[in-house]
Amino acid sequence: MSDPRWANWAGNRRGVAAAVARPKTAAEVAELVGAVRAAGGTLKPVGAGHSFTGAALTDGTRLEPAGHAGPFTVDKDARRVTVPAGMPLYLLNQVLAAADLALPNLGDIDRQTVAGAVSTGTHGTGARLGGLATFVAGLTLVTGTGEVLHCSPTEHPEEYEAARLGVGAVGVLTEVELACVDAFTLRADERPMPLPAVLSTVDDMAAENDHVEFYWFPYTERCLVKRNNRADAPDPLPRWRAYLDDELLSNTVFSVACRLARRAPALVPRLNGFSAHALGARTYADRSDRVFCTPRRVRFVEMEYAVPRAALGDAFAGLRRVVDTCGVPVAFPVEVRVAAADDLWLSTAHGRDTAYVAVHQYVGMPYEPYFRGVEAVMRDVDGRPHWGKMHWRDADSLRATYPRFDDFLAVRDRLDPDRVFANEYTRQVFGD
Ligand SMILES: Cc1cc2nc3c(=O)[nH]c(=O)nc-3n(C[C@H](O)[C@H](O)[C@H](O)COP(=O)(O)OP(=O)(O)OC[C@H]3O[C@@H](n4cnc5c(N)ncnc54)[C@H](O)[C@@H]3O)c2cc1C
Repeated sequence: MSDPRWANWAGNRRGVAAAVARPKTAAEVAELVGAVRAAGGTLKPVGAGHSFTGAALTDGTRLEPAGHAGPFTVDKDARRVTVPAGMPLYLLNQVLAAADLALPNLGDIDRQTVAGAVSTGTHGTGARLGGLATFVAGLTLVTGTGEVLHCSPTEHPEEYEAARLGVGAVGVLTEVELACVDAFTLRADERPMPLPAVLSTVDDMAAENDHVEFYWFPYTERCLVKRNNRADAPDPLPRWRAYLDDELLSNTVFSVACRLARRAPALVPRLNGFSAHALGARTYADRSDRVFCTPRRVRFVEMEYAVPRAALGDAFAGLRRVVDTCGVPVAFPVEVRVAAADDLWLSTAHGRDTAYVAVHQYVGMPYEPYFRGVEAVMRDVDGRPHWGKMHWRDADSLRATYPRFDDFLAVRDRLDPDRVFANEYTRQVFGD
C-alpha cells in the first residue's frame, strides 16, 4: 500500500492523496479515470515530483508512474523511440545510447520522467534548439472521459498540440514517441568570466555555440560560462576531477556554504565570492547526456522566466536592482539560458527566440520578496513563467502572453469536461 502523503523534490509542496494508484496499461488508466469521474473525484498523474509548483499535487487520486522501464520500441532508421510516459530521463538516455541515438538537447538533470518533463516545458539551452516537448512526435493519451487516443501531427492534431505540453491538465500520457538524433559527443568548455563581458557578448556566444549558459553569483561581478559544442571524440575528465568539481565543490562544499548562509545571512556576499572563485576553468568531452546533466543534491526553490531574447539586457538589469534592494540575501547563482522560438501552444518559447532567467534560493531561506520582485521585472518585458517552477501568475495574466491560450482551453473543455485532472495549480493557471 503506497503512502498517501507526498512531497515534491524541494519539499515546498506537500499533500495527502485520497488514494494512490499504479495502473500499468492505458486500458487500466482508462478504467481508473472512468471510475474517478463517475464518483465525481479528481486524479493527478505524478512524475518524479521535481516541479516546484503544485502541478502534480492532489487531494484526489494520485497516479504514480508504473511499468516505466518498458516495453519500449526503437526505430533506428527513423531515429524514433516510443517509451512509457513515466520513464525517467536517465533510463531514456541509456535506452537511446544503446541504440546509438540521443535527444538533441537536455536540461540540467536527468531525474524527471518523460511525461513530467514535456508536460511543463522542460528545456535546456541552445539558440537553435527547442525544449523537450518539441521532440515529441506522437503520444498516447487517456482523456478525462476515459478515451484512449493516439495523437500526432496527423491524428487528432489539436489534442496532440495540447497534450505534448499540457501541464497535466488534458489527460494522462501513457506513451510518448520522441524524435531523436544520432548519438553525439559534446565538448564542454566552462570558465569564469566577468559579468559585463558576458552581458555584452551573450548574443554572439549564443550564435556561435551549440549550447551556452551562464551563472551569475549575486553581489559579485563574476560568472561561470558553460559552452557545449559537438566534438569528434570523447575526452572525459579524470574521475578524481569529475568528483572534485561535480560532487565535492558543486554539491558537498556548496551545501556547507548554503547552510552557513542560512545561519548567518550577512555572510552571503562573501560566500558567493568564495563560490564564484571555487569553480575554475575546465574542458572535457563526453557522451552528450553526461555533459548536459549533472547531479543536484543541494535542495533549493526556483522561479524561472522566459523573456524575449532582445529583452535579456533590461531583464537582467532589473533583476540586479531587485537583488540589491529586496532585503533578502541571495545565496544561489542566477542561471541564464537560451532557446529557439517554437510553435507549441503553451511553450514558454512560443513564437519568439527566448532567454531564460532562473532565480533560486536555498531551502529554508526567505525567497518571496526576491522572487516576487524578479517576477515584476519579468512581467514588464512580457516574461512567461516556467510551468514547473514557482510563480504567482493567474489565467488572465497568462492568456495575455500566450496567443493560443484559449485554443488550449477549448481542447481541455473537450478532453476533460468534468475537470477530472483539476487541482489547485490548474485552477490558478487555467481557471475553472
Ligand atoms: C534539481 C532540478 C533541476 C531542474 N532542471 C531543469 C532544467 O534544466 N530545465 C527545466 O526546464 N526544468 C528543470 N527543472 C524542472 C523540471 O524539469 C520540471 O518541473 C518537470 O516537470 C519535472 O518532471 P517530473 O517528472 O518530476 O514531473 P512532476 O513534477 O511530478 O509533474 C509535472 C507535471 O507533469 C504532469 N504529469 C506527470 N506525469 C504525467 C503523465 N503521465 N501524463 C500527463 N501529465 C503528467 C503532472 O501532473 C504535473 O502537472 C528542474 C527541477 C529540479 C528539481
